[in-house]
Amino acid sequence: MNKSERKGTELYHFEKLSAFPDIRHFVSSRKGGFSEGPFARLNLGFHVGDSSFKVLQNRQKLADAAGIDLFWFAFANQTHSGNVAVVDAAGRGKGATEKRTAMENTDGMVTNVERICLCVQVADCVPVLMYDPVERVIAAVHAGWRGILKRIVPATVEKMIQHYGCRAENIYAGLGPSNGPCCYEVEEDVKRETLISLGSLNGIITPGKNPGKYIFDQWNAVKMQLLDTGLKESHIEVSGICNQCHHETFFSNRAGQGESGRYAAGIMLCKK
Ligand SMILES: [Zn+2]
Repeated sequence: MNKSERKGTELYHFEKLSAFPDIRHFVSSRKGGFSEGPFARLNLGFHVGDSSFKVLQNRQKLADAAGIDLFWFAFANQTHSGNVAVVDAAGRGKGATEKRTAMENTDGMVTNVERICLCVQVADCVPVLMYDPVERVIAAVHAGWRGILKRIVPATVEKMIQHYGCRAENIYAGLGPSNGPCCYEVEEDVKRETLISLGSLNGIITPGKNPGKYIFDQWNAVKMQLLDTGLKESHIEVSGICNQCHHETFFSNRAGQGESGRYAAGIMLCKK
């Protein structure tokens, strides 16, 4: 990923998505912002116990750094579901300045409306941004192990295909910083649920360092699901940045032992 900085706020950008001048996208980091303690500094989540006023100030900092009006952002109240929302013009600004107006029970968002910044929040789960430059459709997805088992990423691609007539082979995808196979340890229950939901553990679950522990490879799981839906391998960018290894730069709920802020990944179609 490439990095940009404006007034102390650091943003990361996928190389493949950066090739398209008609979209704007970012993954935020902890750098810049007003929050303190486990939320220091650019916490973007209203739901984690931080001061709402500071989160609002942080979101304004993010908007300034990204060059996107805060009232064009659209956030969801994420629930590790398999639910995908088609966002129309009325979605602009939902959840941007308060939790109350965010889209309920949604973990994937798609739109072809210009100047709506679809935004997901994470702190271990995988943020996925997608773009179809042919039909001019964008998507943002929040995919942790629960979402992966509910096929939230393929469901989002399918929504792009069914609702907007996209073709999978035209879609580009970026998998942002998240808990990598170096760190993401799970136990027997997750292994069992993975086998039940996906029918296979291949490329997803491997033995961990200790008995009864396993590694869940979120990056490979999402990548395999994208390839299965028909995306080209050359269109998929995996950042390869583990947020737990780099918790100074990206919030990690695991590193914070359950108390941490959230960083965000957003994507917007610019006006032609
Ligand atoms: Zn790691």
